[in-house]
Amino acid sequence: MSIAGNLEDVRNRIIAAAQRAGRPSSQVRLVAVTKFQPLSAIEELYKLGVRDFGENRIQEASEKLTGWSHPGATIHMIGHLQRNKVRQAVEIVDCIQSLDSVRLAEAIDHQCQRTQESMPVLMEINISGEEAKHGFQPVEVFDALPELARLNNIRLQGVMTMAPIVPQAEAARPYFRRLRELRDELERRFPDCRLPELSMGMTDDFEIAVEEGATMVRVGRALFV
Ligand SMILES: *Cc1c(COP(=O)(O)O)cnc(C)c1O
Repeated sequence: MSIAGNLEDVRNRIIAAAQRAGRPSSQVRLVAVTKFQPLSAIEELYKLGVRDFGENRIQEASEKLTGWSHPGATIHMIGHLQRNKVRQAVEIVDCIQSLDSVRLAEAIDHQCQRTQESMPVLMEINISGEEAKHGFQPVEVFDALPELARLNNIRLQGVMTMAPIVPQAEAARPYFRRLRELRDELERRFPDCRLPELSMGMTDDFEIAVEEGATMVRVGRALFV
């Protein structure tokens, strides 16, 4: 299979899943996860119309993408970000989906203040509560959100999660649904705050995530097999 063939397949599956849920597929952005992939793969995807790319390590992203800028391309940080890498991250990426603490948010805000930027961010939520996962615990987000809202150089746009590894994609559905409900609850409690973005779903479960309202799916392996 080629990248072009894989991409067409993934796009068609997104369209079909959106149709099943009665949603316009234009509401779902495909974030191509290009970790471990060479820059040539990113460029090929760009030529095929992909505009959103996900990287999980700043070191790797920086080696690949320093100096690479294409009109309309958005680089998403999707892996855990250490505070001592924030300066580099702000240089390289256009969106941080893996915001997992208030202290990290303050560091990003501080760096963006210096460079007079404003960084779109998503709160990563550990919806399954697994020990090994990063992210805010669902109960923490209600206290964290007002603190994030105070920071002027980040723009909170929604929430992100990774479902646990499950034997069948269908078993991931409750986690996606829980993330959507948590987002709805946050918007109810904080009416000034809009959280339109729901980043959820990967190679093994993105169709279920689309059915549950994902606005961004993060797909790696399915594009590169
Ligand atoms: C690697 C990764 C993905 C993509 O996973 P695939 O199974 O390759 O589609 C999505 N989100 C995060 C946070 C990742 O680290």
